[in-house]
Amino acid sequence: MLETINEKNILFNKPLCSTRELDNIKDVFNRGKISGDGYYTKLCNEWFLNKINRKILLTTSCTSALEMMPILLNLKEGDEVIMPSYTFVSTANAFVLRGVVPVFVDIRPDTLNIDENIVEAAITPKTRAIIVVHYGGVSCEMNKFREIAKKHNLYLLEDAAQAFSSKYYNEDLGTIGDLGTYSFHETKNVVSGEGGCLIINNEKFHERAEIIREKGTNRAKFFRGQVDKYTWVDIGSSYLPSDIIAAFLYSQLSFSDFIQKRRMEIWNKYNAFFEIYEKKGYIRRPFIPSFCTHNAHMYYILFNSLEVRTKFIEYLKKNKINTCFHYIPLHSAPAGIKYGKTFGSLNVTDKVSDTLVRMPLFYELSDDDLNIIFNIVENFFEREF
Ligand SMILES: *Cc1c(COP(=O)(O)O)cnc(C)c1O
Repeated sequence: MLETINEKNILFNKPLCSTRELDNIKDVFNRGKISGDGYYTKLCNEWFLNKINRKILLTTSCTSALEMMPILLNLKEGDEVIMPSYTFVSTANAFVLRGVVPVFVDIRPDTLNIDENIVEAAITPKTRAIIVVHYGGVSCEMNKFREIAKKHNLYLLEDAAQAFSSKYYNEDLGTIGDLGTYSFHETKNVVSGEGGCLIINNEKFHERAEIIREKGTNRAKFFRGQVDKYTWVDIGSSYLPSDIIAAFLYSQLSFSDFIQKRRMEIWNKYNAFFEIYEKKGYIRRPFIPSFCTHNAHMYYILFNSLEVRTKFIEYLKKNKINTCFHYIPLHSAPAGIKYGKTFGSLNVTDKVSDTLVRMPLFYELSDDDLNIIFNIVENFFEREF
C-alpha cells in the first residue's frame, strides 16, 4: 500500500529567520553590549508589559524559567507537585532537580489537558502546587484550578510554553497562576532559537526572581542604583539570555501578529480538511472549549489505534511529508518511574500517546504545500479504509 507520489520535501517545522532578525542582531553589535539585560531585553520587557500587562523576565529557555519556580516557592525535598504525565520532560524535571516529587495525573480526553476533575483527589499533606500545561496552546479550565488551589492553599503554576497569545476567556494564558512561563524554542510560535520567560503574576516574587536569575546576586538592583555594590545574596543560576537572543526575539514579537494570522489560516484549513474524516470515524480533530481562544500552535489528529497511526506516518514519510508524534508519558519514562508518583489510572494519557500525530505547521508553509499534504492524506484514507 505504500507508494510514492510526492517528491517535494515538506518539513514538519521551519523556524522563521528573516533579515529583520539579522538587522536587530547587527544593532546589538553596534551598541557594544551583548550580555544580558541590554537594550533589546528591555524592549522585550516593555512589549510584554503592553501585551499581557505583566512583568516578565527573559530566560535562556522555558526550562530555565520552570527551574526558577521551585526555588521561588521554597519547595523542599519530598514536597509534591501535581502535573499531567502528558507533557514535555521539563515540566517535571525542573522540580525533580530540587528533590520535589512530581505526581502525575491523567488528562481530559477532549482537550488533552490536565483533568480538573481528578486533581483534587491527588492532593496529599505534601502537595505544595499544581502546575497546569496548556497543551497546544489550548487553555485548561482555570477557574476550577484557581478554586482548588485556593481551597487547599496551594500555588497554581502554568507551563504556558506553547500558549503565547492564547486566552482563557479574556485572560492571557501564563498570567493566571502565581507564576507562568513561555517558550521561544524554535518549535514554538514566536522563537529565538532557545529562549523563554518567567511571567510574574504575584508581585511578591519579583525581587527574588531577579536575584535567582542573576546567579544569586543583587546585580539588577545595583544597576538601578538601589544598592551601591552587588553581592551574593541567595541561591541562583545564570538564567538570563544574551541581548543577541533578545534582539532576535524582539524582531519576532514585533512581527507576531503576522505569524499568528498565517498559523491560524493553516490551522483552519487543516480543520476544514479533516472534518469529513472525523465524521467517518477515522480520526478525531482538536477540541477547542468555548472559554478558550487558541493560538494555532499545533494541528494534531488522533487515530483509533497505534497501528493505523504508524501506517499514516510511514505513508506520509514515504511521500516526503514530515509529521511527528509525542509524548512518551512521563509516568512510564525511566526517570518518571524513578522520581515521580502516579495517581490513579492514566489510560487517556497512554491512549493519546499511541494515537496522536502532529501535522506540519509553520509560518512559511504555503497553500501549495498544504494541497500536496491534503492529496497525500486523501490517498492514504482511500487505501486504508
Ligand atoms: C517546549 C516546551 C517546554 C520547554 O521549552 P524550552 O524553551 O525548550 O525549555 C516545556 N514545556 C512544554 C509544555 C513545552 O512544550
